[in-house]
Amino acid sequence: MSERIYKIAAMAGDGIGPEVVREALKVLRAAEGKFGFQLDVTEAPVGWAGIDAAGKALPDDTLALCRESDSILFGSVGLPDRDPTIPKEERPERAALLALRKEFGLFANLRPVKLPAELAHACPLKAERQGDGIDLLVVRELTGGMYFGQPKNTETLEDGQLRAVDTMVYSTSEIERIAHVGFKSAQLRRKHLMSIDKANVLENGVLWRDVVTRVAAEYPDVTLEHMFVDNAAMQFLLRPTQFDVVLCENLFGDILSDEAAALAGSLGMLPSASLGATSGERTFGFYEPAGGTAPDIAGKDLANPIAQIRSAAMMLRHSFAENDAAAAIDAAVGTAIANGLRTGDIFSADDPNARQVGTTEMGDAIAAAV
Ligand code: NAD
Repeated sequence: MSERIYKIAAMAGDGIGPEVVREALKVLRAAEGKFGFQLDVTEAPVGWAGIDAAGKALPDDTLALCRESDSILFGSVGLPDRDPTIPKEERPERAALLALRKEFGLFANLRPVKLPAELAHACPLKAERQGDGIDLLVVRELTGGMYFGQPKNTETLEDGQLRAVDTMVYSTSEIERIAHVGFKSAQLRRKHLMSIDKANVLENGVLWRDVVTRVAAEYPDVTLEHMFVDNAAMQFLLRPTQFDVVLCENLFGDILSDEAAALAGSLGMLPSASLGATSGERTFGFYEPAGGTAPDIAGKDLANPIAQIRSAAMMLRHSFAENDAAAAIDAAVGTAIANGLRTGDIFSADDPNARQVGTTEMGDAIAAAV
């Protein structure tokens, strides 16, 4: 990359957002010093913070900042006690989150699920099903399929019943584009791609399988397998360690990524990335933890910052190809866990090596380990 200067919009949002984004920025600064790139970070209000500052969940200045940035590091938005006080379309999740997804054409959602062996207790599966630790990545198509296909309506039939219609639609180019994200992600990992479909029943499944198989020819170093979605739902619980990258269309990915998330034990561990267009060597991305604003623990130094910190690592990897720095952050998270540091959500009193720490101490330890 010619100039390693990256312009980042940091939007912490509500609830625990400001606490965990602060720790993620701390860790990014540690990586910046060590790996020699430069971060140009501008913070901006969003969600209720946006409404309080400028009357809108996505203030005009915040949107303008996003447009001139290379990537967005996002906390979480929405407060259950305030959301119902304003119309639905003005509420933070719709007016900020969905608006940003649309604005930046974020078509690929990446959700890695990693359960280190030390946190086996937090996983609902028996230890023998966890192998040496679960480590998989769900790549979900985000802008097509049943959620957006037309026609989509509810009509009243002559006999008075209601009839609802949703339509699953994919074109070749939409499948190709997400398949490339899947194969490229697999190249950065253990080089295995499991493509999920329902080719035994759905026309979309047949096309999905054909296109993914064709794209595979461009990635001879990646092993491709196909699995029906119903079997995948079962295999996630029976043998999750068989998966490296799991490629799904929108609806299947929505369901399977939440099922996979449950394997990690806590929302506080789960990062995510939503990718848009690539220009040159940079890909516009939106990086946020899988969880929400956690109002029950906000402002108490109780939140686990790892989901946000790992989201920042994903930004370095997927938007800027700073793979060494991203790997160093992931390794630093592993070191903090191995050293016994635990926020409340992943703490077990049965583990003699575990010590409960707050948001700030966890962030400090990870930044120091980078
Ligand atoms: P939530 O994810 O905020 O919380 C669910 C549970 O997980 C809570 O017990 C919380 O304490 C815990 N949790 C979440 N993140 C954690 C972390 N980092 N460390 C430790 N524990 C953590 O979900 P919710 O309670 O259903 O929603 C609260 C608000 O967040 C709502 O207003 C909702 O609309 C919003 N929300 C926003 C986003 C987003 O911005 N992308 C996503 C989900 C929910």
